[in-house]
Amino acid sequence: MNEKYRIGNSIDIHPLVIGAPLYIGGVLIPSKKGSISHSDGDALMHAVVESILGALNKGDLGMSFPDTDEKTTGISSTFFLNEVKKILNDEGYKINNIDIMIVLEEPKLGKYKKLVCENLSSLLGIKINQINIKAGTNEKIASIGNNDSYLVWCTTLIEKI
Ligand code: MG
Repeated sequence: MNEKYRIGNSIDIHPLVIGAPLYIGGVLIPSKKGSISHSDGDALMHAVVESILGALNKGDLGMSFPDTDEKTTGISSTFFLNEVKKILNDEGYKINNIDIMIVLEEPKLGKYKKLVCENLSSLLGIKINQINIKAGTNEKIASIGNNDSYLVWCTTLIEKI
């Protein structure tokens, strides 16, 4: 196995409900509907964290951060990113690049992608051009298309330090 580069991916989905906040990549996005989960419902952050864990051969998000843990109830998902950043460093790896796909019907994310990218790059200590964020809709199909949920895919390549 090539240990110089390792790749991980993840997909995360959360329900959207009226009145809840919508955090995407740690950025509060103005929206009628927000995301709910055990933590703050930040599917982008969860997908990024889990893709890094995958690249490190460390199972899934729930193995490291169980959703039964009262310490993480309602917590900002930035906590998980900071924790996984430490694990990445302890294992002797750094991030090469991250590619993210958000599928959300409303609101349109065009004007927020740069903010999300800047926040992630600052939290991870990597350059903006190491993170690519794409956003699209589900063409009004099914639960995502009805704006009752949203989904994030993420692929991360890590490199031995
Ligand atoms: Mg999640």
